[in-house]
Amino acid sequence: MSKTIAINAGSSSLKWQLYQMPEEIVVAKGLIERIGLPDSVSTVSFEGDKHVSHKDIHNHTEAVSILMNDLEDLQIIKEFSEITGTGHRVVAGGELFNGSVLITDEIAKQIEDLSDLAPLHNPANAAGIHAFRALLPHATHVAVFDTAFHSTMPPVAFRYPVPNAYYDQYAVRKYGAHGTSHMYVSQKAADYLGKAPEDLKLITAHIGNGGSLTAIDGGKSVDTSMGFTPLAGVMMGTRTGELDASIIPYLMAKTGISDVAEVIDIFNKKSGLAGISDISSDMRDIIAAREAGDEKATLAFDMFVNRIQKYIGQYLAVLNGADALIFTAGIGENSGPVRQAIIDGLSWFGLDIDDSKNVVGADGIISTPDAKVKVLVIPTDEELVIARDVEKLKA
Ligand code: ADP
Repeated sequence: MSKTIAINAGSSSLKWQLYQMPEEIVVAKGLIERIGLPDSVSTVSFEGDKHVSHKDIHNHTEAVSILMNDLEDLQIIKEFSEITGTGHRVVAGGELFNGSVLITDEIAKQIEDLSDLAPLHNPANAAGIHAFRALLPHATHVAVFDTAFHSTMPPVAFRYPVPNAYYDQYAVRKYGAHGTSHMYVSQKAADYLGKAPEDLKLITAHIGNGGSLTAIDGGKSVDTSMGFTPLAGVMMGTRTGELDASIIPYLMAKTGISDVAEVIDIFNKKSGLAGISDISSDMRDIIAAREAGDEKATLAFDMFVNRIQKYIGQYLAVLNGADALIFTAGIGENSGPVRQAIIDGLSWFGLDIDDSKNVVGADGIISTPDAKVKVLVIPTDEELVIARDVEKLKA
């Protein structure tokens, strides 16, 4: 029996999903949280049951060995060797990787060396990779990059208008993120629309805690809203998205914050919905407070919607029209009110949704039959893409 595990390692968490391949059956999945903090929690979902255990897990190496032991203890696997492949989500691949690759010592080092582009993510991704390679020396280990799908962007989209030397010497450019998700939902959308991806112009809106939009022409990413790092683009749960860089020195002078890293940290972790609402980074809390009449939550909601509308407008221009807009991720998949608010302001462009289809559990086309630009909801499945890439590279 051949099993593949898809891994998404964050700075203090490790999300995993175990597949029976090539059948693509999810055997078990889980999440380890609070790695490096007291009272870490490991949750394993298997055959309809949730197994939760609390223990101090100091680092990713320990997390991986606890996960593997849990799999044996719960008899999900009989022995480690049953797992013949591991696939790792890696946030930043820089200009080095335009597709998934087998992990060698050199690749693992390159992933670590790219940490400047994703300081919260790449070190954690690399730690997960090291731990699995040590525990499963005979398995195939694959890295799947969030940036790879965006490697088709043309210079007109990926270059910033700064002096050439900054690109030539330091590779300062747009890399994007969420590529695996944008690719997956765009291919699914083509199935729903009954066309080949090559014949479609699509705008994908991955709106979760982090969010990005992508313009996809003929199956290829031609522009995306995240930038050099995932701080750019639309407003997010705790991130600013786009703002004027001059704010940084101005704020430092006014507030007395002397370390620029602290300002960036505030822009990454204390801004967005959380910063404007003063309530929460979670859209469900924002919607509840807005319904109760809270003014700051209402402004946060309206700004969030406005930024997404503006990117849709940009990408309608980049693509010179689009066949469909696709919503995915936590908010995009689950929030009818957010989708409605976004589409309400875009009727001039030919977007219109059918209220009876814009419901909880929507999956597929939700636009009215006459809408010029179709609107779809498609649950994303980055783990499945990762497992499939491992399978491809195993052969
Ligand atoms: P991440 O970027 O961390 O993977 P997710 O894609 O899981 O995030 O999205 C998390 C966001 O989705 C949160 O803001 C959460 O409030 C939102 N969300 C989940 N379910 C709903 C819902 N039913 N209505 C509105 N927002 C929702």
